Amino acid sequence: MVVELISVGTEILLGNIVNTNVAYLAEQCALLGCSLYRQSVIGDNEGRMEEMIRQAVSRSDIVILTGGLGPTKDDLTKEVTAKVFQRALRMDDHSRERIEGFFQRRGGKITENNWKQAMVPEGAIVIDNDNGTAPGLIIEDKEKGKTAILLPGPPNEMKPMFEKDIAPYLRKLSPEGIYSRMVKICGIGESAAETMVADLMDAQTNPTLAPYAKTGEVHFRITAKARTEEEAEEMMQPLLEEMKNRFGNAIFTTEEKVTLEEAIVELLKERKYTLTTAESCTAGKLAGRIMNVAGASEVYNEGYITYANAAKEKLLGVKHETLEAYGAVSEQTAAEMAIGAAKAAEADVALSVTGIAGPGGGTPEKPVGLVYIGCYVNGNVSVKKCLFTGNREKNRDSSVVQALTLLRSELMK
Ligand code: ATP
Ligand code: MG
Repeated sequence: MVVELISVGTEILLGNIVNTNVAYLAEQCALLGCSLYRQSVIGDNEGRMEEMIRQAVSRSDIVILTGGLGPTKDDLTKEVTAKVFQRALRMDDHSRERIEGFFQRRGGKITENNWKQAMVPEGAIVIDNDNGTAPGLIIEDKEKGKTAILLPGPPNEMKPMFEKDIAPYLRKLSPEGIYSRMVKICGIGESAAETMVADLMDAQTNPTLAPYAKTGEVHFRITAKARTEEEAEEMMQPLLEEMKNRFGNAIFTTEEKVTLEEAIVELLKERKYTLTTAESCTAGKLAGRIMNVAGASEVYNEGYITYANAAKEKLLGVKHETLEAYGAVSEQTAAEMAIGAAKAAEADVALSVTGIAGPGGGTPEKPVGLVYIGCYVNGNVSVKKCLFTGNREKNRDSSVVQALTLLRSELMK
């Protein structure tokens, strides 16, 4: 079943409002197992709207339109769709009563143009709107096997209507649902990770495998179309096992909801380790990410933000000579920061970050994006040198993920 989405409204077309409806609907349709190939935006122009709806109807089974169902003159979606489906509009008494009821509850006088919203195309299924006045509509052309679904633009009206009436309607048409599993990887770059499973991606039909790159992480979604969750699990299992074979320890979770920081806090708890952080460059972003995890305070007691050399000496015991000889952004300083932080916080594990986030501060020897990450685990310290190429924000975010990735690989040793 091929579904196509059309967002109606000049404000969306011109970027005055963000098209959140289409994001919601696309995701919901995919979950319902619909094949979604196209989404478009059209302004409140009758001729262009008609052309777009005709095109969509000719190539898709179901066209879902949002917006333009309201009372004003520029609200044309219903009129134009009815024209395409060759249906006359007639007054729907049920909708008329609901509009009356809506205004009675809210107070205020009904203006004449509101009745326009109770006009429905012949033979259409009317979807009640519990949060507004314009009803939704399903217009079916059974002969041609084409359907248009019209929903109001305001998300607080559209979403409840979709959930309550449209999703069950679509589910009846296509009994297969979409089920998915997530394989989350760190420590391997996006293109390398993709190359490692290129053959699996080429071979895919059902289940399918799709990569999603996040800063410093690669996520693969395995998706299966099946009638039941059990059936889907059975279909996905062999692919999941193969991914585990190929990526091994680089997989930090196969749960959709588990984040890298959660996986790490879990590891620390298992090993009964406490963690501290010493940050220059990231200024608490690393600690903040760890503290995203509810219950992280069980493993984290205190941390340090040290920008000035004097602060690195005072709080972390970095040696004056080290800073003089190698500079604040150096392997040696990163190592001493990690060791010093662990000692000061009496922690088993410490992460340190020192680098040049940019845009200023770079030199030919130490360019913007150069970051050293130190990791101290129970007496051993290792330092990773990174050279990021993003802007300030991106370099700092990448530093955080690389620090977490280094910590994880040290903990897995
Ligand atoms: P109304 O009865 O409010 O006029 P409508 O069905 O005619 O509803 P529009 O006039 O197109 O819908 O849009 C009304 C409001 O709904 C917009 O101002 C906007 O706030 C919201 N809206 C419309 N379309 C979208 C969309 N695609 N994504 C997010 N919000 C939207
Ligand atoms: Mg409107």
